[in-house]
Amino acid sequence: MAFRMTFIAMFIISSIIGMGWGLGSLTPPVRAQTPRFSMSTTLPQAPARALPSARVRVPEPSALAVRYHESGNVLWAIATIWGLALPAMLFFTGVSARLRTWAVGIGRRWYFILVIYVTAFTLVLFAANLPLDFYADFWRPHAYGLSSQDVGKWLHDELIGLALSVIAAALLIWIPYLLLKVARERWWLYTWIISLPVLFAVSVIEPIWIEPLFNDFGRMKDPALEARVLALAHRAGIDDASIFQVNKSVDTNELNAYVTGIGSTKRIVLWDTLIKETTPAELSAVLGHEMGHYVLNHVWKGLLLAGAGLLAALWLVHRCVDWTLHRHKARSGVANASDIASLPLFMFIFGMVSFVFQPAALAYSRHLEHEADRFGLEITHDNHACATVFAKFVEHDLAYPSPGLLFVLWRSSHPPLAERIEFCNDYHPWLEGKPQRYSRYIQDPQPGPSR
Ligand SMILES: [Zn+2]
Repeated sequence: MAFRMTFIAMFIISSIIGMGWGLGSLTPPVRAQTPRFSMSTTLPQAPARALPSARVRVPEPSALAVRYHESGNVLWAIATIWGLALPAMLFFTGVSARLRTWAVGIGRRWYFILVIYVTAFTLVLFAANLPLDFYADFWRPHAYGLSSQDVGKWLHDELIGLALSVIAAALLIWIPYLLLKVARERWWLYTWIISLPVLFAVSVIEPIWIEPLFNDFGRMKDPALEARVLALAHRAGIDDASIFQVNKSVDTNELNAYVTGIGSTKRIVLWDTLIKETTPAELSAVLGHEMGHYVLNHVWKGLLLAGAGLLAALWLVHRCVDWTLHRHKARSGVANASDIASLPLFMFIFGMVSFVFQPAALAYSRHLEHEADRFGLEITHDNHACATVFAKFVEHDLAYPSPGLLFVLWRSSHPPLAERIEFCNDYHPWLEGKPQRYSRYIQDPQPGPSR
């Protein structure tokens, strides 16, 4: 799941350029299509050389899945509009300027004014987003049988997220605002340069210290399964990755796994829901995919893209902010970009720019996911398990197998499941005597029957 990194990166960058919770309001209420892997118990173990006759059909989505998909699109549209409208309202109605005047009265010194403003602003956003967050993250998944989370855990996670936002904003918000004061024409470039090591640091810190605030990360509970995972990892040339089992069943019934971190913090994380619902062969298919991300350096590639996208976005924001401030000075009560009251304007414009960039970023993500699928097939040679994992996913997670073009362009970080199932069915160069694309990364490319 290469794009996990990008969202985290964007979160921290949003804190740096002063949006705190802002971009969050565009993404979390309606989660991006998270990695889709999956389950099932009763299917027989696939033969070592799956034959074309063992094709897996793309399942028809249930009526419930169709409803989930369609109502999800409406929710996404509402959340996207709300995520832009809220900061726009706070800025253009002068609320932000009044909040700044209040902060000036209390804080007196520049840095304290910034921290007081940004804390209050984050709390306002949190409160304004709470009903939609509750509906999208708690009520709706329960209504569709996708969640077993109790309301206390949901609130606990929300409050931890809020606390992290306030802390990150208090620590970082002064950087772009200082640059806006002292380097009026180049602040966007300097902010970008400073954001790169921060982005890198966050990608190191996040999997080790942030993720465990929300769930328990432990070793795999089944030693036989862990041995199987380690053997597969060894064949992928990965002998230094940590493998974790995380108790996501307290939050969701959905199935997932991901690879995250850089260098020694690299880790493969398996949700316990996935372990429970998959056969060993299917789990290997999922892990083959995840190891593909790892071996093919998808985390780095995702970070590079995030960095490049951020530079372009900051420049665009720079151009738009001055233009808007000039035109709406009187109404907003904000004359200068270095005034902390410009924060919701930055958030609004950054949100619009992100929306425009989203299709390109997601297209790249889908490309990486497709290559990870290819790697998974090349290391396991198990077309059948690969296809059944994705097929059952349609049933278990109410995933919609063949979404429309707009959905794919703006929301799909992974290729549509119907395409992935067909690729799992059809991609077997080793049966045709053709070379594999990634054989140089794979030791023992002809797995024995005892896999
Ligand atoms: Zn993936």
